[in-house]
Amino acid sequence: MAKKLRKNNKEYFQCKVCKFAYKEKELAQKCRNWCEKYKSCNVEIIKHAVQL
Ligand SMILES: [Zn+2]
Repeated sequence: MAKKLRKNNKEYFQCKVCKFAYKEKELAQKCRNWCEKYKSCNVEIIKHAVQL
């Protein structure tokens, strides 16, 4: 499961490996799967990350 974050009344989902946050739960999940498997970040995924 991606970690749920709440900021400014918005919900985000955080990859617990790289700590990037996403609006889409699916993306956070994808990121986490990638991070755990490859121990690196996928640029195609993290470009969707949001600054908190
Ligand atoms: Zn990640």
